[in-house]
Amino acid sequence: MLAGRLALVTGGGSGIGRAVCQLLAKEGAGVAVVDLNKEAAQETLDRLPKGNHAFSADVSSSSSVKELLKQIKTSFHMVPSIAVNSAGITKDKMMLKMDEESFNKVINVNLKGTFLVNQAVSQAMLADKVPNGSIINISSIVGKVGNIGQVNYAASKAGVIGLTKTAAKELAGFGIRVNAVLPGFIQTPMTDVLPKNVMEIILQLIPAGKMGQPEDVAEACLFLASDRSRYITGTTIEVTGGLFA
Ligand code: NAP
Repeated sequence: MLAGRLALVTGGGSGIGRAVCQLLAKEGAGVAVVDLNKEAAQETLDRLPKGNHAFSADVSSSSSVKELLKQIKTSFHMVPSIAVNSAGITKDKMMLKMDEESFNKVINVNLKGTFLVNQAVSQAMLADKVPNGSIINISSIVGKVGNIGQVNYAASKAGVIGLTKTAAKELAGFGIRVNAVLPGFIQTPMTDVLPKNVMEIILQLIPAGKMGQPEDVAEACLFLASDRSRYITGTTIEVTGGLFA
């Protein structure tokens, strides 16, 4: 479904990002696996067919993102026509006790990082006249409904939805689509740290009765990356098992 395409996947060293790398590669795309953690990115790369590459980059740094785009072009001799922004962090605390640093850090990685990659990738797509660009931003269902203890994270993910809708409007005329995926509770290292009693409460709220798997989110990304979604832009897809639908 993606033969001849190149995909840049941030957060590619773990969880959802890793599953996205594996599925897009299986569908024929070249994959630039990007993560802050180079070893984790390399571990993902080791599971992909030959010819792909791993990169270490900090999405919250504009110089790191610019350098990343240069390195990708040098390695693949083309620019990405697909970008999946899955890099993200949590630093949970009740709002009454949230320190400024935890707030800033989460906004910097989740929201500013998504902005920097959207901007750099779309600039590269325009410079190379990529005819069918697709950018997919991983937001979260809590960006829609909020979540106790996640005032920083929920704000960052709501921001990602606003960013996505704005970028989609600005870039549609250039043939670049921008959409967001809102996962619910997905089994990854990010949710592995949640206390058992909290997970039991969450499970009772999920109509499907179970957590999602990273592959469930990757399937939505594949659809949005491919030309099967060619007339879809500026929208969100919830992958939540019905939670808060
Ligand atoms: P994960 O397993 O923790 O993966 C996130 C990856 O992003 C990690 O490899 C992490 O590297 C990397 N990363 C962190 N900061 C970065 C930076 N500044 N630059 C580049 N990479 C960075 O989490 P996940 O569950 O797969 O989450 C992926 C995305 O889905 C995130 O945006 C998350 O907010 C979103 N999401 C997840 C869920 C869920 O239930 N799991 C639900 C809704 C939304 P390090 O390990 O080195 O930090």
